[in-house]
Amino acid sequence: MTKPGSTDLKGLETGLIDGRDDVNDQTAYFGDTACDHLASILEADRPLRIFAVLDQQAYANSGAKDLLEQYFSGNTTTRFMDFEPNPKLDDVRKGIELYRQAEPELVVAVGGGTSIDMAKLIRALAGTVDPEAVIRGKSPIVASRSRFIAIPTTAGTGSEATQFAVVYIDGEKFSLDHASLRPAIAIVDPRLMNTLPAAVTAATGLDAFCQAIESIWAVGATDESVRYAQTAAALALAHLPQATNAPNSLSREAMSRASYLAGKAINISRTTASHALSYPLTSRYGIPHGIAVSLTLAPMLAYNAAVTDEDCVDVRGADHVQARIRLILDILGATSVLGGCARIQSLLAEIGCPTSLQEAGIASADELRDVIEAVNTQRLSNNPRKATSVSLFELLSPASIQNRPQKQTAAAL
Ligand SMILES: [Zn+2]
Repeated sequence: MTKPGSTDLKGLETGLIDGRDDVNDQTAYFGDTACDHLASILEADRPLRIFAVLDQQAYANSGAKDLLEQYFSGNTTTRFMDFEPNPKLDDVRKGIELYRQAEPELVVAVGGGTSIDMAKLIRALAGTVDPEAVIRGKSPIVASRSRFIAIPTTAGTGSEATQFAVVYIDGEKFSLDHASLRPAIAIVDPRLMNTLPAAVTAATGLDAFCQAIESIWAVGATDESVRYAQTAAALALAHLPQATNAPNSLSREAMSRASYLAGKAINISRTTASHALSYPLTSRYGIPHGIAVSLTLAPMLAYNAAVTDEDCVDVRGADHVQARIRLILDILGATSVLGGCARIQSLLAEIGCPTSLQEAGIASADELRDVIEAVNTQRLSNNPRKATSVSLFELLSPASIQNRPQKQTAAAL
C-alpha cells in the first residue's frame, strides 16, 4: 500500500509491466511511446478497411493528428467526425450509415469519452435493424466482429477500459452494457493530454477519482476491482492538483493511468449513488460530468460510513462496508469520516472546483428535489447503504449540511 500523497509512480502497485497491461480480453499500452504501438498492430493485422471515429477538435489539438494521421491517410479509412458531445441517437444513426458502407475490419476511436462511446455504440448497433430497440433493452446486441482500438485524449472517463456506453434519446440517458463493447486494445498515451485546458483536466480527473472511490464501496466490488480502484484513487489524489495547475509529464502520466485503472474497476463493480445523482445535474444544469459527480462524493462518504445491518444493501454486511470505508479513509490520509470528507473537499478547492451542490448553483430545496426526483432509483441499488429520495434529500439539503459536522462526529469511525 502506497503512502497517501506519494508521487512515486513506480512505487504504486499498478499491475502494469513495461507500459503494457494484459488482463482478460484487453491489452493496454501506456506511456510516452504508446501511440507508436499502432504501427505494429496494423502491421500484424493488416486491416483492409479502417473506420476512424474522431473528435475533430481533440484530434487536431491533442497532437493525435501528428502522431496518427499517417495510419489513416490511405483511402482505406472512413472517418466519422460529425457528432456532438454526449452521444445522441441521431448522431449514432449517421455513424451506423457510414459504418455499414465501409464494412471495416478495424475501428479506431480517438478523443474523449464521447468519441470512444460513439464508436462503441456504432459497432454494437450497426448489425441490428432497430438500434433504438436495443438501447431500450427490447432487442439483444449483435456483437460486431470488427476489432476495436480506443485512444483517449482526456484522462478521466476510463471509457477505454469499460464495456459500457452512454447514449441520449430526446434528453433521456441510457447505458449500453455488453462485453462486446469493450475495446480490444487501449492506447493510453499521456502526450495526447498535454494541451488539455485546466478546466477539462480538473473535471475529467475528478471523474476518475470519484469512479475509483465509488467503486471501492460499491455492492458490485470484488477484491480485484478494489485493487484497481485503490491505485486509481491514490494516483488521482496525489497528481490531479499538479496536472490541473502546473501540468508536467509525471502528473499527466499518473492521471492517464488513474483514468484507465478506475475504468477497469467500474467495469467490474459499476458506479453508485454519486453517479446516479450526477446525470440530472449534467442534463438539467449543464454541470460537467466529473464535477457533477464530485459534488455529492463527500456527503455520500459520510452517509455510507453510517451504514448499519438494518439498511445495508451489500449482502456481505455492514462490517464489510465499514472495512471498505476505512480503506477509503486510508487513501485519503484521514483518521475519521469527517477528516475524509474534508480531504475530498480540499481536493476540489485545490483544483478550482465548487465544493458543494450549493456552490455549484443548486441552492434551493426545490432545485434539489427536482434533481433527486430525476434519479433513476434502480441505479441506487449498487450503493452499499439503502438510499431513498427522502434520505438523499435529508442528506443533501442546505439545512442538513449546516448540521452535518455533529452527525459526522457521531458516525466517525
Ligand atoms: Zn463517470
